[in-house]
Amino acid sequence: MKESAVHTGGMAGRGGKQGGADADVAVVGAGFAGLYLAHRATTLGLTVVVLEAGESVGGTWYWNRYPGARCDVESIDYSYSFSEELQQEWRWTERYASQPEILRYLNHVADRFDLRRHIRLNTRVTAARFDEDALTWTLTTDTDETVTAAFCVMATGGLSVPNRPDLPGLDDFRGEWYHTARWPAGGVDLRGRRVAVVGTGSTGIQAIPMIAREADHLIVLQRTPNFSVPARNRPLSEAELAKVKATYARRRARGRIAPSGVPSDREPSPGRGVPPERRRQAYEAGWAEGGASPLLRAYSDMLVDEEVNASLADFVRDKIGEIVDDPATAAALTPYGYPLGAKRLCLDTDYFATYNRPNVELVDLRKTPIERITETGIQTGDTLYETDVIVFATGFDAISGAVTAIDVRGRADRSLRDYWRTGPRATLGLMAAGFPNLFLVNGPGSPAVLGNVLAFIEHHVEWIIDCIDSLRRDGIHTIESSEDSDERWAVQVDEIAAATLYPKAESWFAGANVPGKPRRFLPYAAGLHTYRARCDDSAARGYGADFVLDHALSKHAEKRP
Ligand code: NAP
Repeated sequence: MKESAVHTGGMAGRGGKQGGADADVAVVGAGFAGLYLAHRATTLGLTVVVLEAGESVGGTWYWNRYPGARCDVESIDYSYSFSEELQQEWRWTERYASQPEILRYLNHVADRFDLRRHIRLNTRVTAARFDEDALTWTLTTDTDETVTAAFCVMATGGLSVPNRPDLPGLDDFRGEWYHTARWPAGGVDLRGRRVAVVGTGSTGIQAIPMIAREADHLIVLQRTPNFSVPARNRPLSEAELAKVKATYARRRARGRIAPSGVPSDREPSPGRGVPPERRRQAYEAGWAEGGASPLLRAYSDMLVDEEVNASLADFVRDKIGEIVDDPATAAALTPYGYPLGAKRLCLDTDYFATYNRPNVELVDLRKTPIERITETGIQTGDTLYETDVIVFATGFDAISGAVTAIDVRGRADRSLRDYWRTGPRATLGLMAAGFPNLFLVNGPGSPAVLGNVLAFIEHHVEWIIDCIDSLRRDGIHTIESSEDSDERWAVQVDEIAAATLYPKAESWFAGANVPGKPRRFLPYAAGLHTYRARCDDSAARGYGADFVLDHALSKHAEKRP
């Protein structure tokens, strides 16, 4: 067993009810959320232990090293805003940062704020159990190390458990296969080899153009075509950065109250009633500018009005037809049957043009699904596609998957997996009933993934740590939600989603990509501004309107002779 870190100060060090614990706060995951949790908690004098499965900090940006991995929110916004010094000194080189650059940034943050002393790497949390007598969480790990803490925060990421299709015969495959989210650190040499990519979501759409350049032959096996628009990635000039940095704080303040967490210079108006020609001009401008926002936010009703949405979807479909030379391939790549943006809109660099290359072939799995993997390749209904390497770009058990991968046990041995069996639910997306002092970052029922995740993470971290600090100052030992409030919040999340076009797509937003996962729309779709106001209101009213405070302690005290 490894030795526990030495901690002083904080609740644990003061010998209170939870005084025997190793730390005030145990954090699972050292990605963007985990690092900021460590910083924010220690700044307020709390002790913290961060447990991280990877051999480096970075979370999703440590694991997703596939070719072409890159952010789809602009670097200047997809970065921490909590430190003016940090945002002034860091220099992003491209409009959309690549995975290696983001990983460098996170390592810089870990060093700059001296966070590594709180982090234990190569340590995967396998179970978390609440002790109703000690009022502490005990985290068990795959290194046999245990950590106890008064509070536990799941900073496990919304997209961190790979969804690997259960295809018969995969064990017999004599070539190599990889999931994009577990790409080897040293890369994979694809030169001169036949490669098959399964999956055309954001990941596949980024990886396919890069793999096509390297591989001898590439087969893309596509089940559902996706909408994708040009990223128009480019280097950032000194002048451009200087302009941003001169008013960075103001930009960040606007981002914090923007619905998607991305600041915008203009407030869009509804597209309904706007003549088709004017709409088209707006879409052409957005297409030329690149990125998701200029198109999705061309009109305020883009994700609620089917007719307005269809006009943009038609525009993008036409573009696909213009880019792809072969009409049959273009038709197979053209998405129909769900609104644009109801699945996360993909950003690409040369994705559709890649199908004009002589070494790239598209297989439409809707016509001939995968039957099995053989020793030499992928067998669909009518053809065996022989290949040396299979790349699964098949996504994630999103939002709830990383939390339920851990055996979380709350009061009376309640299992979080069981509680969420009929659908993940948590009050304000932050706490689930029966699990006192356990917080979720970007959990089900929070904005989670519907925008700039960095803005969502910073909001959650600040709310959670401020909550813990406030409980500490008020001498309150536990906070938890009730089943009623979890359900009420989940119903609200459903109602908000029902007023949008989101539910009209089969997407991972609702768990549709994982066989057997209960269908429930998980993200809060009314925007960060509304969500932030709701959470702030809860805090301003002392948390008691949404959560039960100190319940465990009084119940425990009642049992005492
Ligand atoms: P995804 O959007 O879930 O896409 C997975 C793809 O694999 C889909 O095309 C899916 O087809 C296909 N698939 C899944 N199981 C399959 C099976 N058994 N047989 C054949 N095809 C199968 O996953 P992702 O592309 O990894 O993206 C997930 C999210 O991660 C994104 O939406 C985004 O939020 C985030 N992401 C962001 C970036 C970025 O910042 N640029 C990059 C990558 C990912 P169906 O659609 O038919 O299910």
